[in-house]
Amino acid sequence: MKPSSPFAALLLVAACFTTPRAGPLSARVAPLVDYHQHLVSPAFEPIVKLPRRDGAALVRELDAAGIERAVVLSVGYSFADERKGLTDPDRLTREENDWTSGEVVKNARRLIGFCGANPLRPAALQELGRCLGLPGMIGIKLHFGNAGITLRDPAHLVRIQQVFALAQRLRAPVLVHMRARGGTNYGAEDAQIFLDKVVPMARDIEIVVAHLGASSPGYPPQNDEVMGVFAAATERKDPRMANLYFDVAANVTTEMTPAEAALVAQRIRQVGTRRVLYGSDLSAPGGSIGKGWEIFRTTIPLTAAEMQQIANNRTSFVRYNIPVVRLRAEPYSFEYNSGLSSAARLVVRDAGVWQSLWTQIYQQRFPVPARPAIDFSREMVVVVALGTRSSGGYSILIDGASGEGANVAIAVRSIAPGQKCGVTAALTQPVDIARMPRRDGKVSFAEHAEVKECN
Ligand SMILES: [Zn+2]
Repeated sequence: MKPSSPFAALLLVAACFTTPRAGPLSARVAPLVDYHQHLVSPAFEPIVKLPRRDGAALVRELDAAGIERAVVLSVGYSFADERKGLTDPDRLTREENDWTSGEVVKNARRLIGFCGANPLRPAALQELGRCLGLPGMIGIKLHFGNAGITLRDPAHLVRIQQVFALAQRLRAPVLVHMRARGGTNYGAEDAQIFLDKVVPMARDIEIVVAHLGASSPGYPPQNDEVMGVFAAATERKDPRMANLYFDVAANVTTEMTPAEAALVAQRIRQVGTRRVLYGSDLSAPGGSIGKGWEIFRTTIPLTAAEMQQIANNRTSFVRYNIPVVRLRAEPYSFEYNSGLSSAARLVVRDAGVWQSLWTQIYQQRFPVPARPAIDFSREMVVVVALGTRSSGGYSILIDGASGEGANVAIAVRSIAPGQKCGVTAALTQPVDIARMPRRDGKVSFAEHAEVKECN
């Protein structure tokens, strides 16, 4: 069901997949991807006490830093931190994930969304499954400290294993802030439990351990204890390290001592520079994304080539993700009354077909709305039709796409109303439309059907 899933097997095939970029590799100094970002929704603003930051605002900050894309981690879990004592935390979590999806979709060329939930909530697994079906949302963010989780508690461990099993089943990557709440009960032991009991639940997904093993800012001995476990595992070629990555989000600040910086460089080399991902977090060191990268680049004593590798690292979940822009930003089908009365999955690569298809969609509408201009030398259009339904409440949505080389897999979600839903009695013919970068190879559709219950 996830955009990445149909191509998971293809990752084993050696293939060359390149994205055009501004200049020669050596000239690039900024990271391609900021792997650890958050937004500040209207609901999160009073909690985090930071100014509102929507998707467009983040994109402007990325532009200023010369960074192409960012992984946006929903803070849905934050509303279910029981210390905050919020009423109806599960609803707030859902709303935060929905809002994050909406912002990601509006900036689909630049942002990739991860879902957030507190795994200790009974509703968490259901919510993560639901959220992974939202447009633009492809992964899961876990925050052990915020959620009150410690892997040393067997009940918590079972819960985390369930989340990773879900991630494995849906082929959704996971980014995990592993430090336990307060941080006093956290260290090498936790990293070992993670490696022994959690990673084996999810062999085929990419896992990002955030903040160099623990938390940020800084790199205190606790981080290094944890990184020491992963470094040793890498050095003994532990197969469980195969899909593990480490982000450095907000760890490296101007306060870092040369000794700490040397230790960070050593651990980065031990786990391998290919596993290290750059990230900024909400409050980037130095006050801006670009400044934070400058501080990292000039503080950690790695070679220019090693820095370049970190800047260029792309996980599969980014590499194979194809930005899809739906013609309607809201999470509803593009049209509910269309001239497409039969189910269809169509890829349009030329203006003539686009024109006749548009006319067909609006055959009963006068005047026909203006047809969006598409540059078919660079783009193509995907049109999916559900077919005629006997009532309202049915939808079809293009959720995302992934691809390798010329081939593309498009994730499509068909939604039916639950039995308790009150629906309009008129016939509907839902259609969804999205534009995406042109690929001339084979297009497949990964279908996902769901029933939307009404309470
Ligand atoms: Zn974060």
